[in-house]
Amino acid sequence: MVRYVYEFTDGGRDMADLLGGKGANLAEMTRLGLPVPSGFTVTTEACRAFLASGSEPEGMLQEVSRHLSVLEKSAGRLLGQRDDPLLVSVRSGARFSMPGMMETVLDIGLNDESVLGLAKASGSDRFAWDSYRRLVQMFGSTVMGVDSALFDEAMTLLKETREAPDDLHLDANDLAWLVETYKRLIHDQTGQEFPQSPAEQLRLAILAVFRSWNGERARLYRRREHIPDDLGTAVTVQRMVYGNRGTDSGSGVAFTRDPATGRPGLYGDYLSNAQGEDVVAGIRNTVPLADLERLDADSYRRLLDHMGTLERHYRDLCDIEFTIERGTLWMLQTRVGKRTAEAAFAIAAELVDEGQITPEEALARVGGDGLARLMFPRFDTAVTGDALAHGLPASPGAAVGAAVFDSAEAVRRAAAGEKVVLVRQETTPDDLPGMVAAEAVLTSRGGKTSHAAVVARGMGKVCVCGAEELTVHTEARRFTTPDGTVVEQGTVISVDGSVGAVYAGEVPLVASAAMRYLETGEESDSVVAGVARALQHADSVRRLEVRANADTPEDAARARRFGAQGIGLCRTEHMFLGERRKLVERMILARTDAERDQALNALLPLQRQDFAGILEAMDGLPVTIRLLDPPLHEFLPDHTELAVRIAAAEARGEQPDPHDVELLDAVNRMHEENPMLGLRGVRLGLVVPGLVAMQVRAIAEAVVARMRAGGSPEAEIMVPLVGAVEELRLAREEVERVLAEVTAETGVPLHCPVGTMIELPRAALTAGRIAEEAEFFSFGTNDLTQTTWGFSRDDVEAAFFSAYLDKGIFATSPFETLDRDGVGRLIRIAVDEGRAARPDLKIGVCGEHGGDPESVHFFHAAGLDYVSCSPFRVPVARLEAGRAAL
Ligand code: PEP
Ligand code: MG
Repeated sequence: MVRYVYEFTDGGRDMADLLGGKGANLAEMTRLGLPVPSGFTVTTEACRAFLASGSEPEGMLQEVSRHLSVLEKSAGRLLGQRDDPLLVSVRSGARFSMPGMMETVLDIGLNDESVLGLAKASGSDRFAWDSYRRLVQMFGSTVMGVDSALFDEAMTLLKETREAPDDLHLDANDLAWLVETYKRLIHDQTGQEFPQSPAEQLRLAILAVFRSWNGERARLYRRREHIPDDLGTAVTVQRMVYGNRGTDSGSGVAFTRDPATGRPGLYGDYLSNAQGEDVVAGIRNTVPLADLERLDADSYRRLLDHMGTLERHYRDLCDIEFTIERGTLWMLQTRVGKRTAEAAFAIAAELVDEGQITPEEALARVGGDGLARLMFPRFDTAVTGDALAHGLPASPGAAVGAAVFDSAEAVRRAAAGEKVVLVRQETTPDDLPGMVAAEAVLTSRGGKTSHAAVVARGMGKVCVCGAEELTVHTEARRFTTPDGTVVEQGTVISVDGSVGAVYAGEVPLVASAAMRYLETGEESDSVVAGVARALQHADSVRRLEVRANADTPEDAARARRFGAQGIGLCRTEHMFLGERRKLVERMILARTDAERDQALNALLPLQRQDFAGILEAMDGLPVTIRLLDPPLHEFLPDHTELAVRIAAAEARGEQPDPHDVELLDAVNRMHEENPMLGLRGVRLGLVVPGLVAMQVRAIAEAVVARMRAGGSPEAEIMVPLVGAVEELRLAREEVERVLAEVTAETGVPLHCPVGTMIELPRAALTAGRIAEEAEFFSFGTNDLTQTTWGFSRDDVEAAFFSAYLDKGIFATSPFETLDRDGVGRLIRIAVDEGRAARPDLKIGVCGEHGGDPESVHFFHAAGLDYVSCSPFRVPVARLEAGRAAL
């Protein structure tokens, strides 16, 4: 029989699939002997069964009641018992943490009678009514679907009439009145009564948590974080402990290290006389955790002890939630904490130094996406001027955008292409769409563990929180600073999440410390030291080589500084642009062979110079030069422009420029409906006489020149867009003819390997044949994705990809992350058949995917020899190639 419920004493951290992260870690803490209020977890399997069928799986409720009885027995009280009720919390907990995205209901078991019992048993009317109003409020919104803003409004109104600055100034009578108001609200909104039966409350709360898995914000979060939709959430049911029992009680969240910078040391927020959610919701300002030492030295000491235990046990940064009830410390949650990219690199290196983890584990804990973020520029602090305000540096980075004051506006403007900064007093899970859309999040309230901070860090989004000097007028859509500056909606501001500052206008950017390290080797801080260590280790374990796509000497030199081991793709088309366009035009318009040769001969020295520069920058390393790929008409002027010019001349009664007429004629002649599938790549080389010969001669002469200058050029010649071996054979014959010619002319023996791109399905499917003519393959995964899916790579992103992403057809664009099932299958076939035909075939990839972390892991697994990507992605690819080899 399927088992749906596990006691905390039955589970452990390795059961997160079934018990969710929260349930598994509560069980682990219980096993470690930490003070965890007892409870049990309803499994993710129960959730999946419920979501699939719409009703509780058979036997689940009976299991819940059996485990509830155990809980009641150990507590010596029954759930909702009239004279002294046991209360429980019901909380969500998925396999992957989704902070604040799903539901929680606290204080289950209170009703009109047991609230009196609780008052008596605890000796505090205020505490009992405060707990009851929390239950009605959370239950009303979470389970019964009442807009939570209505409860907030009632609370605000009451505070105003009572002239209470915060909820602590409301007394038992006020809170009892609030309970009645809330219950009436629920009835008015739903036509139903707040349920008085504790068992019914528990049942409904569990089901509501299940349902919240499919809530809008949870789905959005999953999509963004690439968490699968079919995991479901577990539900923990746990005996309540009360942080709202007076000033000797409270709730807090803490990290064992700074999750923003990675610095060691205890770190967190505490709120006295409060229950869990209050801390992150920012309803009152929290105090730094260090202040707890003054408030309750004993609990503070124990907390430090437990955190040390957890960090040593998990061998990683942990975050925890705890509650102190009348001087007794309780641990309510722990998990390996989310952290910024900065912190990830710094912590990984420090844990290695502390002997807690191996360099392999450290490498597994950092990632290419994080490294790419660290390489982004930072604000130039030399020219920032005075800040508008300072807050907490909650999630690092530099972001510029127009200030907006609600989530919907952020989404609207971002969809129209505007960069925005979401400014709020504090964020709630409802702000998630706006946070996703914004470049940065700025709040005036809340600590580094507030919702805004936690979620922004998780998303790698810039965040400054708790900028208390700002007064945010959400309704009026503006904020003001103490010196009277008013920032209206739409005004551009700059947010520095690394130092916690906000500036007016757009602050200029400079290179980040990580970028300086990559350029110069300068290790300026612990984060950069962590990056250096991770890259060194990755280089020592990776099997994949990393090359760069570069087509200028400058790019080649930068790529080399970043660790590239050669050039995997030198696109020659940019060399046909600019002033050389005229020569290309002459080549296209040539009426005789002699005219064409003249134009090609004029291009030859220019190309030779290009190649010599690149070969020099990459001296001693392979440089794969690809023959011209795009359709020739791309080098001609725009059709409309020409037509208008000619029509205008005619309208003026003048003769149109004959050159224009000739060009227009050529443009018309060469027009293709689908140029991407037209006369490009090898096809061009086979039908335009002299083109391949000119390019190969330029390469060969550049090689000879470099050799004569004492260099070690290693040029490789690559033929693009081959679909049939015959195409490659013909192109190759031409290449070899020219190489032999130059050898004969110069007396320098030339051997340049000749290979091909595999970027058409037919090429992949006939790779065995093609390998007979190719010394290397390089997968052009941009075109291979385009032609496998039949998606036009230039159009789809704008046309319908966002709809496809929304519908979950794919989690990321297949142009960004390689589609393993389809395109990946073609690659595997081509690798197998290519190597079977030619065992020493060298194989790489030079499409955009070569620098995408997830795709790099695929290329490693598929047995490629190298990946090639843009120079800025080279460090990312090095790191991921190392991680793939672990
Ligand atoms: C490719 O198609 O993946 C490729 C690298 O070539 P290009 O992007 O130049 O078409
Ligand atoms: Mg291509």
